[in-house]
Amino acid sequence: MPLDFDSTRLPSPHLTESHEAWRRTVRAFVDREIMPHVNAWDEAEGFPRELHRKAAAAGLIGLGYPEVYGGVRDGVDVFHSMISSEELARAGAGGLIASLMTHGIGLPPIIVLGSDELKARVAPLVLSGEKIIALCVTEPSGGSDVANIRTRARRDRDHYVVSGEKTLITSGCRADFLTVAVRTGGEGAAGLSFLLVEADRPGVSRSKLDKMGWWMSDTASIQFDDVRVPAANLIGAENSGFAGIVANFNMERLGMAAQAIAFARVCIEDAADWARQRQTFGKPLVKHQVIRHKLAEMTRHVHASSALLDNCAWRVKNGETPVAELSLLKVQATRTMEFCAREAMQILGGAGFVRGHRVERIYREVRVMAIGGGSEEIMLDLAARQMGL
Ligand SMILES: Cc1cc2nc3c(=O)[nH]c(=O)nc-3n(C[C@H](O)[C@H](O)[C@H](O)COP(=O)(O)OP(=O)(O)OC[C@H]3O[C@@H](n4cnc5c(N)ncnc54)[C@H](O)[C@@H]3O)c2cc1C
Repeated sequence: MPLDFDSTRLPSPHLTESHEAWRRTVRAFVDREIMPHVNAWDEAEGFPRELHRKAAAAGLIGLGYPEVYGGVRDGVDVFHSMISSEELARAGAGGLIASLMTHGIGLPPIIVLGSDELKARVAPLVLSGEKIIALCVTEPSGGSDVANIRTRARRDRDHYVVSGEKTLITSGCRADFLTVAVRTGGEGAAGLSFLLVEADRPGVSRSKLDKMGWWMSDTASIQFDDVRVPAANLIGAENSGFAGIVANFNMERLGMAAQAIAFARVCIEDAADWARQRQTFGKPLVKHQVIRHKLAEMTRHVHASSALLDNCAWRVKNGETPVAELSLLKVQATRTMEFCAREAMQILGGAGFVRGHRVERIYREVRVMAIGGGSEEIMLDLAARQMGL
């Protein structure tokens, strides 16, 4: 049996032919449109905007969104989304997924909470890949303590006036639409709202951040300097944004876990391949027991994490929101990625340190996966509190 990306995926009782067909579609898209370019895009710190339109045409952007806005929801469940995450991760470039799929965190608040007018105005443009949307929650004063957001939106007759700063915003420089968490009321979670800000409004300024990894993903600091936004851009009721922020996080964590485990499978595939080819001390590397055990350990971690992912996805599909398990899953999956990236780099030896391949890139992306979308410490504490501790 080969030890590769496919063989390290546990069979799931929840997958049907519809899921397998979707896997083939996404795989063909990744092989055709992403794999040949991904190293160059990372070095160039960006990818063509055209890829959004191509991904939309392939069905990736609209998956799970209402048909009326150009999406496909009929017959689609959370396992289809997991497959998108996994297959995109096969390219070994988290930055690409983060940027290409930012609508996955930027659009749901509008779909779930927004008015019909707002949905009709924004969703078709985003789901067709014509426009890019970003989610702006994190601020320079901190990302974990979401309830303490400081960016303020002050009501002025039929407008809001937004002032404050967001940071670490994925697709922040390229985005046309910004889904911004703002303070419209008093202190704490009860004073937060979501507001749609068109990025070309006077008073919005953006600057690119240079990062350790995710080079091809644009990450920005965004300044809001008395930006006037029509009150019709309010997403949902005033001061009810916190629930939307939290709901968004749960789905983001499930997707990130699927990605992280798939990155770990990429590490196994490339390390196993190298260990078979590389000769040391007169025999293939893989024939040294220490190296064999590394690959077995990596696979053990992947299997355990995959089983938890499968269970969480099944519960979400059935309408549950298992907050504690989703939080633990995010930690489990990103630790699996971290372990596998380390061990794969070790097996690759010096060759692993040379730029321009999947494992080296994944190694640089470990920290953002363990911090973004809810850091390990915050996830473990959230789970602990859910467990009554
Ligand atoms: C590349 C990248 C892209 C991102 N994209 C987006 C985006 O598109 N939109 C967006 O809104 N945000 C985005 N983020 C921000 C991300 O969600 C935050 O980095 C994350 O929520 C953590 O916030 P922070 O970095 O401010 O860390 P802080 O909140 O300052 O925390 C720093 C460290 O202290 C720990 N810590 C904090 N509080 C506690 C506590 N009470 N107990 C124990 N430990 C604690 C944290 O776990 C963390 O390790 C992105 C981040 C990165 C790196």
